[in-house]
Amino acid sequence: MPSLAAHVQESPIEYITTMRNRALEMEERGERIIRLESGDTEAGVPRAIRLEIERALENGETRYANQVGIPSLRERIREEIKRDRGVDLSLGEICVTNGGTGALFTAFFGALNNGDEVILPAPYWPVVFNQIKHVGGVPVEVPVAPDFDLDPESIRAAITDRTKLIYVNSPNNPTGATFSIGSLERVAEIANEHDLWIVTDETYKTIVFDGEHKSLFSLSGMAERTILTDSFSKEYLCTGLRVGYAATKHPGMSKTFKDIARSLTSGISTPTQYAFARAEIDEDVRAGITSKLKEKRDTLVAGLRGIRGIDFAAPKAAFYLFIDMSAHIPTESKDDPLYIARLLLQDGVAVCPGRAFGSAFNSYIRLAYSTPTIPELQDACVRIRNRFGASE
Ligand code: PLP
Repeated sequence: MPSLAAHVQESPIEYITTMRNRALEMEERGERIIRLESGDTEAGVPRAIRLEIERALENGETRYANQVGIPSLRERIREEIKRDRGVDLSLGEICVTNGGTGALFTAFFGALNNGDEVILPAPYWPVVFNQIKHVGGVPVEVPVAPDFDLDPESIRAAITDRTKLIYVNSPNNPTGATFSIGSLERVAEIANEHDLWIVTDETYKTIVFDGEHKSLFSLSGMAERTILTDSFSKEYLCTGLRVGYAATKHPGMSKTFKDIARSLTSGISTPTQYAFARAEIDEDVRAGITSKLKEKRDTLVAGLRGIRGIDFAAPKAAFYLFIDMSAHIPTESKDDPLYIARLLLQDGVAVCPGRAFGSAFNSYIRLAYSTPTIPELQDACVRIRNRFGASE
């Protein structure tokens, strides 16, 4: 038999899919599972977007378009970047992509050569680990600080003459942390000193409950060596519509954006692009999405307080809680990345094993609280409390 490519052999995403598939099998057998393993959103694409998709279909706006995105959508993104990050881009410096996932792949594809090392602050979203490997890069895990902020000194210590890029994701999946402006500034300094790329993944920028989102892209002089990746998926509860973008002021990248878009996807669905270019979405809609998520976060945090061996700081953003469960893992199971996730699945709660987010996180679990209802979250907390008991 011919062999497979080496870069598709090892994938941390399997730790997520293994638990999800087990949960699905149990649901098929009629068991009730509270699903906290998946970072999806509730269904509920804003009406303005739905109507504009229909209108685009009616209008026949369904043909090939510019591969990097229709100009009116890129114009809208350009205005948003200028308003929120203070960077004035030309349309050629923006590439509409298949969600944030497509934006990240475009960024790594455009910036990395075979053997280039990428500093990956860990824990991280595992798709990024895979993508770096798919394009021949070498992910180098660097743990974040104990409070989940970036640790610039560890990043500096991990730099070698092969380092090409630093990936930064704030607000963060899986920790729900936002990185401090001080740590972002120091990482920017390191990138300047060593002439490195930065990819700043700001998929969760609008979902911030405490404090505010600071964008590395906004830092003075950074837009030329930084690729901003962003997505509408979480902001507008439309994970299935697949709209995101990559943007940079790097002078060579606009041609690269075109080449990659042509080879990879030939652009994304045009009716969806017209809808995002035209839809007038009330600020209240976005605020409503964030306030509902905040209510869910507060429910989960309150429900998990006082459970034996579970100690965490309330996450400030995104919709995840990343908790160290080592108090409940017996010594002989320390190397079993699925131990806690399996235990909780027996109680009808599906969670994601921490190992999916980095090799040092066997003892952690990630709870994603965006899809379950508030009563489901309360029920999950009762089940977890019943399993581990109350702290003294
Ligand atoms: N970046 C991070 C950190 C994510 O968690 C996700 C999705 O979960 C994405 C990017 C990609 O989002 P999209 O669904 O738009 O591809």
